[in-house]
Amino acid sequence: MTLDRKLLVGALLATLAAPARGASDDPRADYDVQDYRLELLVDPASQTVRGCGVTAGVVVAEKLESVVIDLAAPLQALGATQVAGDLFQKTLPHGDALAFDRVGDTVVVHLAASLARGERFQVAVWYSGRPLRQDDFNGFQWTLTPGSGQPWIASSCQTIGEQTWWPCKASYFHPEDKPERVAVHVTAPSTLTAVSNGRLVDVERGAGVTTWRWRIDQSIPTYSVAIAVGPYVHFEEEVALPGLERKLPIHCWVLPESEAKARKQFAQVPELLRFFSEKFGPFPFPDKFGLVETPIWGMEHATVIAYGNSFPDAIRGTGEVDPYELRNKLYDYVLVHEAAHEWFGNAVTASTWGDFWIHEGFCAYAEALWVEHVHGLDAALDFMAEKKAGISDLATVFRPRRDTAAAAYDTQMYDKGAWLLHMLRYVMGDEPFFAAVKEFACDPRWRKGTCTSADFQAVCERRHGASLRSFFQPWLYGTRWPSYTVRQPKLEGNKATVAIECKSRGQFRYEMPLDVEATCADGSVVKQRVTLATGSQSIEITGTAPITAVRYPGFRWILCDVRHVP
Ligand SMILES: [Zn+2]
Repeated sequence: MTLDRKLLVGALLATLAAPARGASDDPRADYDVQDYRLELLVDPASQTVRGCGVTAGVVVAEKLESVVIDLAAPLQALGATQVAGDLFQKTLPHGDALAFDRVGDTVVVHLAASLARGERFQVAVWYSGRPLRQDDFNGFQWTLTPGSGQPWIASSCQTIGEQTWWPCKASYFHPEDKPERVAVHVTAPSTLTAVSNGRLVDVERGAGVTTWRWRIDQSIPTYSVAIAVGPYVHFEEEVALPGLERKLPIHCWVLPESEAKARKQFAQVPELLRFFSEKFGPFPFPDKFGLVETPIWGMEHATVIAYGNSFPDAIRGTGEVDPYELRNKLYDYVLVHEAAHEWFGNAVTASTWGDFWIHEGFCAYAEALWVEHVHGLDAALDFMAEKKAGISDLATVFRPRRDTAAAAYDTQMYDKGAWLLHMLRYVMGDEPFFAAVKEFACDPRWRKGTCTSADFQAVCERRHGASLRSFFQPWLYGTRWPSYTVRQPKLEGNKATVAIECKSRGQFRYEMPLDVEATCADGSVVKQRVTLATGSQSIEITGTAPITAVRYPGFRWILCDVRHVP
């Protein structure tokens, strides 16, 4: 998700609405989701949806008598059926009706006979209603296009939950349970185009309505399942990417009034995907890279990214005002951030919301890497310094309140998470760091399933060849950051002596490397890496000629306060 203050407010509101439930007594933990099929009729006139969500799951408890599925009010549960046969055939096979109860924001479907561990079920919940819309970013949007006033509809639910628009085991409560396959069939007025995840299987035109059948055969988090419906124009191209056997199709759906701008803006997509593929490994979803213009500013829906940004590069210099000018100063914020989510969030997914930074911190640092690629390392270091200005020293990267996505959500995990990675790169060195990031992003265990911060740490330690506990403990779980007091260096001929004091104010003691540079009278520069532990220490540097000045470039790589004193 893109970072915005409005989101924070939304997340707080959603926190209050979230049911308090321990994992141990949670009946949704009794099964593991395998597949979903969502059938949805979207009616812009009444601003309602109608259809069914089929959950296919495997029993992991000793036995299962009823399946608990999330579906939030005001959506109404109309019925439940057992579905027999192939879930992905064109027409949903009709099955026997099942009894159900509406319990809070769930539907409890009673199975015809109890199932034992390892047995599979396929249960459809039929429903209708107007899905929740919390604000411009969270929830189901029914809007009109600015040009011709046609219906323009989009879903977005990461911090309010998928149960607000379709019946499923929501990742909002259970991020650890990713479906392996998802089919989304959307029926909408024939004047519009309906877009969703994965590949387009078929399009069926009826009387005044058209059904668009989409399907993805790879694991994605449930919040990443999405639809967007509008009078879209579509254009596409293909790009050869490192690590992919076939060229990747790039599909764009934009409003007619945006087409010229979008074609200009999205011309950079092949280069962006090539760069991320080199850094993070092969693009995870060979079906497509998709961008769809939405009334939502931005959201990382897998293979169908919601793009509501201002096409900043296309409008630069035209006199058109960019409402997101600050965010778009160095790059297209939504395009770059959400594209990185295809690797971090959609492919590699955190198994608890405490590890939410694996989605947001990694993508915030991916922005810095793109800035470095386009504008150079110096600009990237300045960019990180700007990010620092927005971080509270009371923030933790790990989110200890983690029952729901909303409870864990915090804007601080973006930039402090990015800083954690920036410092880790400094500590490990470029080659082992990027090798570790790529290995982590490509591990099939995390791409198919989910992972934690500890999994990432283990990959890094293997590449580093030593424990990184003393790094991860303070930077992942701690608040505060170190402050350094640097005394004026004592220069005596070829020798310089620097006294530095490091104070750790939080619960952890910090130990960080620091690169120091001494300039000598003969023009040479001596570089030295020292380790700064908490406390006072004295550093000696020996030059090739009398030392005239000492600099500390390493401080651009550490989240800290620095004070230079005489
Ligand atoms: Zn994000």
